[in-house]
Amino acid sequence: SDAGSQKERVVTEEEWLQKWEMGNIGFHKEQGHPLLQKYLDVLLNGRSGLRIFFPLCGKAVEMKWLADMGHNVVGVEVSEQALKDFFSEHGLPYCEEPVPEISGGKLFQSTSGNISLYCCSIYDLSSSIVGKFDGVWDRGALVAVNPCDRQRYASLMINLLEKNSSYLLVTVSYDPNKHKGPPFYVPESEIKSLFG
Ligand code: SAH
Repeated sequence: SDAGSQKERVVTEEEWLQKWEMGNIGFHKEQGHPLLQKYLDVLLNGRSGLRIFFPLCGKAVEMKWLADMGHNVVGVEVSEQALKDFFSEHGLPYCEEPVPEISGGKLFQSTSGNISLYCCSIYDLSSSIVGKFDGVWDRGALVAVNPCDRQRYASLMINLLEKNSSYLLVTVSYDPNKHKGPPFYVPESEIKSLFG
């Protein structure tokens, strides 16, 4: 069915911050996502030491998995609480510094240096700030972006990709007239037109 009923819906940054404050984070998977395990080989394609991007990362435990495998993880998330929780829940020491290019933006980096999490809106990022990536784990990201911002989001993501990169995208399929989202329903045809 069509996604018409969700097209106009907007969830503000304020509302996301509130969800974190209230502990309203049913999207967080304590055990990590089985689909990353299933498709890990597709993401890595036998390569090591990759730069992997987690858009709208929350406190996804998959960031720890990939860092432990020797990859460099970069995430972006508006909620500072989510990022602090990530480091403390994994017992990882980190430091915090401002990001000169982004007003109000902060970088939380593990002391070991292989996990760098930006606290700002994803729309504040560009490849000149974060560089380009060999892999992307997009779970709860495209489907969490406001439908009116999808084009902008996809263009940004395409700009952040290295030539030989892999992009794993998780979407959800359901009747958009029965649930207001997020996660939003993103039809396969739209994914094709967004990413080509
Ligand atoms: N990917 C994570 C979180 C999914 S929920 C996971 O799989 O668990 C979506 C997350 O995006 C929330 O934590 C929310 O705070 C964050 N978010 C929403 N809009 C954002 C934006 N414009 N820039 C960065 N983060 C954003």
